[in-house]
Amino acid sequence: MHLILLGAPGAGKGTQAKLLQKKYNIPQISTGEILRAEVKANSELGRVVKEIMEKGELVSDDIILKIIEHRIQQPDCQNGFILDGFPRTETQAEGLDMLLQKFPDIRLKAIEIALPEKDNIARLTGRRICSQCGKDYNLQLNPPPPDNRCTVCGGEIIQRDDDDVATVRHRLDVYHEQTQPLINYYGSRKKLYRVDGNQPVEAVFRDIEKILKNGVQLQK
Ligand code: AMP
Repeated sequence: MHLILLGAPGAGKGTQAKLLQKKYNIPQISTGEILRAEVKANSELGRVVKEIMEKGELVSDDIILKIIEHRIQQPDCQNGFILDGFPRTETQAEGLDMLLQKFPDIRLKAIEIALPEKDNIARLTGRRICSQCGKDYNLQLNPPPPDNRCTVCGGEIIQRDDDDVATVRHRLDVYHEQTQPLINYYGSRKKLYRVDGNQPVEAVFRDIEKILKNGVQLQK
């Protein structure tokens, strides 16, 4: 099972990727989480990408493709992976296709989680995450406990630096300009499926599972 989750920031890709990871025992590969860990560790890479991420811009395709090339060759990816937040540009999508040329049996499916823009903004500004394990919370839908400690690992629950209103708007603009063209990229290659992200988490998950089981392709 080799999946790409597409959709604007806040559409619920990370939440669904974590559910899929748990149920199917294949890893969620979130380039955003990998980069945030580098920033937190203050590594050389972290220092390069920190400011770019805080502004809501995209990190260079070269850096991202190197990360992915290394990550998808790890043993835990043998039975598949769930790409969350990658690819984000056409160059990245082409780079992924090149990397996967070595594996002709892999059938990529790109699933778009579609959500109206106003809902994206509300979700992102209300989003909170665990600073240790990355678990998602949301002030409206899934509020953090009163002591602000993660229910899974006890880590502190924080707001991401790039989830303030101005940066969120910019990230959505970047999405429309650079990432939305991927819908056509995968659509024209007959690899695109779509679910309605404007439903409860469990309903979105059920719709994704239907696609995995039946492969009913939803064309644009
Ligand atoms: P995310 O957690 O997916 O919302 O990503 C957070 C930030 O990390 C983005 O706003 C970008 O600055 C950076 N980032 C994550 N994934 C990518 C990617 N595939 N290409 C470029 N930048 C990325």
